[in-house]
Amino acid sequence: MIKTELLKIGDLEGDLEKIKRAASLIRQGQVVAFPTETVYGLGANALDPGAVDKIFKAKGRPADNPLIVHIDNIDSWSMLVETIPDQALDLAEAFWPGPLTIILKKKDLVSDKVTAGLDTVAVRMPSHPVARKLIELSACPIAAPSANLSGKPSPTKALHVMEDMQGRIPMILDGGDANVGLESTVLDLTFDLPIILRPGGVTREMLELVLGEVLLDPSVFSSLEEGQKPRSPGSKYKHYAPKAQVTIYKGRQDRLIAGISKEAQRLIQAGQRVGILTTDENKASYKDGIIRSMGSRQRPEDLARVLFSLLREFDDLGVDHILAEGVDTKNEGLAVMNRLARAAGFSIVDL
Ligand code: AMP
Ligand code: MG
Repeated sequence: MIKTELLKIGDLEGDLEKIKRAASLIRQGQVVAFPTETVYGLGANALDPGAVDKIFKAKGRPADNPLIVHIDNIDSWSMLVETIPDQALDLAEAFWPGPLTIILKKKDLVSDKVTAGLDTVAVRMPSHPVARKLIELSACPIAAPSANLSGKPSPTKALHVMEDMQGRIPMILDGGDANVGLESTVLDLTFDLPIILRPGGVTREMLELVLGEVLLDPSVFSSLEEGQKPRSPGSKYKHYAPKAQVTIYKGRQDRLIAGISKEAQRLIQAGQRVGILTTDENKASYKDGIIRSMGSRQRPEDLARVLFSLLREFDDLGVDHILAEGVDTKNEGLAVMNRLARAAGFSIVDL
């Protein structure tokens, strides 16, 4: 077992020595967890296949699920990809640094370990100051998936990372709670039209303002048929799932509340521990079960910020079944419903 150090980064200048230590681990081919604005990442030198291997081992991640490479300047991007089309530059101008990952054809320099053998590479420039400083001081692009054990909800707090990674990696940088709370938007630019492979904090609406029409990959809202090859390899795995069984309920608010309340009563009578994932508008209407609100339906970005943390909390409370309210798929609501649908294994009830 490796000893895992947890280092709190209060302010960037005062705690620079700690980030330098993390960077030196990265340069030595080690794995370090660090905060980003989306979720916590598990980083290693993207140009060192041995180091990248350690990420897969620490997470228990299947080798055919590629990683996102994190950079802190546009020059590093040109090192990694064949060409950067104007569309991509426009996106970088509009949304970087920030929660947008762009997929382009890769250069040979990028190892097959990072891209899981694909001829494309996913790149993002994060905005979190600790992430940026870590990349700068490491002086290499950093490959980083979310810092959870494979299949668990992504970590939005250093404590979540500690729960999953203690004994598996040498260091965790604690930069506070993630502000977006869901993983980045993944956009593939290698087809005729841009395709969202995974919705996130940069919404479809925001992308369309820059690009015109943007497609949504079918894997966003359905599980794949047997034998089907996904564009985004990650989408074939059960993701973001708490231990509890999750069911989503969609429909008019009054029907939602009645349907969920009835099901909660039934499950509780059958001896199950029930969690209700609701919204501020409806939370006072429930009586039974462990009730947690994600925030107001008027502010989908608030729902995104706390979703994963609440799923982990339900696990900590020993909940067997989570009954979740569906939300509108406009703006950040699309990413919220995508993660909920995956956590639920696409078990969605229309009321
Ligand atoms: P995570 O690192 O856990 O946030 O997951 C990264 C996501 O990006 C996964 O769903 C991957 O399948 C997807 N991804 C990374 N690189 C590529 C790529 N080159 N082509 C398609 N999807 C990718
Ligand atoms: Mg992940």
